Amino acid sequence: MRTKPHLNIGTMGHVDHGKTTLTAAITKVLAQRGTGTFVPFDRIDRAPEEAARGITINIAHVEYETDTRHYAHVDMPGHADYVKNMVTGAAQLDGAILVVSALDGIMPQTAEHVLLARQVGVDHIVVALNKADGTDDDELIDLVELEVRDLLTAQGYPGDSVPVVRVSGLRALEGDPRWTAAVEALLDAVDTYVPMPERYLDAPFLLPVENVLTITGRGTVVTGAVERGTVRVGDRVEVLGAGVETVVTGVETFGKPMQEAQAGDNVALLLRGVPRDAVRRGHVVAAPGSVAPRRRFTAQVYVLSAREGGRTTPVSSGYRPQFYIRTADVVGVVDLGEEAVVRPGETVTMTVELGREVPLEPGLGFAVREGGRTVGAGTVIAVG
Ligand code: GDP
Ligand code: MG
Repeated sequence: MRTKPHLNIGTMGHVDHGKTTLTAAITKVLAQRGTGTFVPFDRIDRAPEEAARGITINIAHVEYETDTRHYAHVDMPGHADYVKNMVTGAAQLDGAILVVSALDGIMPQTAEHVLLARQVGVDHIVVALNKADGTDDDELIDLVELEVRDLLTAQGYPGDSVPVVRVSGLRALEGDPRWTAAVEALLDAVDTYVPMPERYLDAPFLLPVENVLTITGRGTVVTGAVERGTVRVGDRVEVLGAGVETVVTGVETFGKPMQEAQAGDNVALLLRGVPRDAVRRGHVVAAPGSVAPRRRFTAQVYVLSAREGGRTTPVSSGYRPQFYIRTADVVGVVDLGEEAVVRPGETVTMTVELGREVPLEPGLGFAVREGGRTVGAGTVIAVG
């Protein structure tokens, strides 16, 4: 049974800076403490191919506990896997460990991962200056640290206060006491610096409507999974899409009447005085005033390759696919700006004008579809 709060984290950074070695070292250090199982380098590096939302991503998952938290940690072998994962939200990271080789400093993929993390809403980054065993020149490492802090500041992170820990994944993996302590210090920094995400109970209530039913003599019922927050009998809610405000007069989970339901629960909500045909799949039930419906947004989108079941031809401005946002299927027109075309297998920043308003916010994931087939996946990075 899980008693500690759960967070999703992952390593990111330039190829060969030591992400996989550090991931293995973390599991080794925590296995020695008795709160994890050692996962050797080879098991993480040979990550199986996974299909998330129809997209093939190489991703390794390891799980471990510190004294205060339970973590699911992802590591990915290649740069392309990072880009796909971040853009499509395959692993919703609550925080990230940015691995930078103290011997090499910032490299192109370091900067790109930081930019992507910012865009998709990973608000907390802890830096591991890895391979610190490889030099006795502290001034060299100081310079790399400065460079990383500047990069983070330039991307909108609090570069001056972000924890930066000097580690050696390789030496910790070999059991060296000094570097084992350094990995422990890194985990302490993650424990204290990355806050518990608000996503669950404290956020304002939101439920994407999956189905609508009528219960004779009682009224209209909407069903779906609570995305965030809590809802109680008697709460006022707004139905976005239907343009009505009403009161929840009944809450059921697993067919049993309840006083309240919370994030993650599959529920049926009885809504007072709402006509059956006013509400549809794709509408959103939310705490009044907590979300604003919009038509325009900017997003990072990964266009699936033909091998992944996507298109065989490129996309250009004026493309009009369906956007599957929460449970809503809405047509939208794509504007690629300066970019002439985007080919299958590539990632692009696009502006979208939807055919109707839906509640949107940065960080929200969506699928791009043509006739029910997924041809792309993306994350909203700006609204309006
Ligand atoms: P990734 O591509 O970021 O996952 O990097 P890897 O974990 O595969 O490591 C790349 C190379 O760097 C391997 O040869 C590792 O043995 C080496 N390496 C990783 N961490 C350290 C470290 O802390 N110190 C030293 N000296 N080498 C390291
Ligand atoms: Mg690796």
